[in-house]
Amino acid sequence: MNTPQTQPTMDISTRIATKYAHALTTGALKLTDTVAQRVTAPGSGIPCVVSFAPSLANKPERPRTSKTVVRPDPFADPCEDLTVLRDLRGDGQYMLLLNKFPVIPEHVLVVTREYRTQTELLDAADLAAAHSLVTQLDTQTPGSRHVAFYNCGPASGSSQDHKHLQLFRLPAGFVPYQERQLNPQESSISPPFAHVTVPLPLQPSGDHLASLYNSSLGTACGASTPSANSAKTQEADATTAAGPAPSHNVLLTRTFMTVVPRSAASTTVTDARGRAHVLGVNATGYLGLLLCKSDETYTALCAEPSLIDQALRQCAHPPL
Ligand code: AMP
Repeated sequence: MNTPQTQPTMDISTRIATKYAHALTTGALKLTDTVAQRVTAPGSGIPCVVSFAPSLANKPERPRTSKTVVRPDPFADPCEDLTVLRDLRGDGQYMLLLNKFPVIPEHVLVVTREYRTQTELLDAADLAAAHSLVTQLDTQTPGSRHVAFYNCGPASGSSQDHKHLQLFRLPAGFVPYQERQLNPQESSISPPFAHVTVPLPLQPSGDHLASLYNSSLGTACGASTPSANSAKTQEADATTAAGPAPSHNVLLTRTFMTVVPRSAASTTVTDARGRAHVLGVNATGYLGLLLCKSDETYTALCAEPSLIDQALRQCAHPPL
């Protein structure tokens, strides 16, 4: 009697790596080259990696207009070469896609299969999917650490309206400031923006993650006062009582969750020579990972890391 051949189950890390390598060869995606420097933002003590990607100008951005613009949904019918899994959890809820415009290899997106909007809060299933993926990837690639993040709402730095979380590997040796915040012996970190960071237990349930998220968001938003930033007006429009959630970022590793309410997706900082630099900031900025589109801005941020503190403060709300 023939024994049925069982296909060994490929772990998720191998699936992503295999699909990514294939997508590079077919040209379905192209890794944008970057140069990077590590600096510490002096006011906050936040360790940062500042990167510069010359070809980022080609990446889709949210149009800068207050009018509602209908744009095609790139996640409605994803191309096969970018699709790692059509049904990530086997529950019909999420696809796992490769980012078409990565600056970090194997950057993936957890996208809802049914259209949902990026102005929605995360729910227990979203958080469970993201945390489980981070945990699996950390475990399957020893020595690596991953972060999942969510850019919620118009002032959060998101570019696509179809609900998606994102996930990538942290730069080698990079220790996010949150690790220090959660160490009671450490007092050298003072972020200049309203936020809440909470430690996570091992294998948290989706409901537990959702409860931590909702209480963190409530605390971080409740105590924030209107900032002087001009984009506040845009935010106020988006935050009616029955309307979408306030713009915010969520950062999730295996060990912590950070929630940062946002006031603006980008801001202008002026260097010591009087030159103005426009900097877009999404969730990764609130981890200490900044991405510049111009060489001038990259040089300015590396030479004057206090500009990073300034940008993070201007794109969020005053500290609690
Ligand atoms: P966000 O800017 O936070 O809304 O994230 C959207 C992500 O989707 C960005 O990192 C884009 O690079 C990525 N992206 C845009 N278009 C596509 C596409 N057609 N397929 C896969 N990823 C995409």
